[in-house]
Amino acid sequence: MTGPVVCTTVAQLREEIGARVTRGARTVGLFPTMGALHDGHARIAQRTRAENDLAVVSVFVNPLQFGPGEDFESYPRDLDGDVARLAEVGVDLVFAPSVEQMYPDGTPVVSVTSGRAGSILEGATRPGHFDGALTVVNKLFTIAAPGPAAELRAYFGEKDAQQLLLMQRMVRDFDYPVEIRAVPIVRSEQGLALSSRNQYLSAEQADHALVLHRTLRALAAGELTLERARSAIDAEPEVRLDYFVTVDPGDLSLVEPGPGTLALVAAWVGPTRLIDNMRI
Ligand code: AMP
Repeated sequence: MTGPVVCTTVAQLREEIGARVTRGARTVGLFPTMGALHDGHARIAQRTRAENDLAVVSVFVNPLQFGPGEDFESYPRDLDGDVARLAEVGVDLVFAPSVEQMYPDGTPVVSVTSGRAGSILEGATRPGHFDGALTVVNKLFTIAAPGPAAELRAYFGEKDAQQLLLMQRMVRDFDYPVEIRAVPIVRSEQGLALSSRNQYLSAEQADHALVLHRTLRALAAGELTLERARSAIDAEPEVRLDYFVTVDPGDLSLVEPGPGTLALVAAWVGPTRLIDNMRI
């Protein structure tokens, strides 16, 4: 099995994509990640592979989307492991640039701002997070743009619901010729939403973290009110609630729980911040 071509520079990725479009690729799938790939990422990579002539996965721990005191330095990194996993899926290209390659002048002067939708919920606790994520994806869209001969599709997980919505908004607001494709949340057998940050959890903490999925399910089934769901989370040892809300999935405005609404939860389990969500 030949693995993916690993591109570390913008020029190299552009050249590889250009060459494959010239040879007949008509659809390019781009899946942006921060690496430390798990089965949730693998599922999305598989879809990217299956649905496109050319499958591209980016692996870049983007400093712009980490706040001061967050885990940028300690975020898990394992490029060799990631490339091996992506080889199994049959991905064609991996884009793994250095920070200097992506931001040669340091923090970019011009960047994307997300406004109100990016300053609530995750954005309230992590100021600047979405501006950083949108800015890097904005760059990735430009770098991976295959030109008029091929279509670009970009893949995002529903686990990061607010991020997905903001990516959809960016494409609409900037008229990007990119189709966003959303992939459902992948969970452990017990129900924990897979996340690279789950590596930080002890076995006990991983057990306690199941309260997120449990309360989401109970809320969706009408067995708990929002208030009771919040207390159930706070009652769990080592778990501290940030928010538990139901929103209109179109614009993230707060609404009462009801059919079609989206329940969003964020909590710290020990020092690790986890998020999860479920459509009601
Ligand atoms: P990350 O590497 O954590 O930035 O995630 C890269 C992409 O994978 C994002 O679009 C995430 O929403 C998606 N993703 C991560 N974990 C999961 C999961 N458990 N289920 C579905 N998508 C996920």
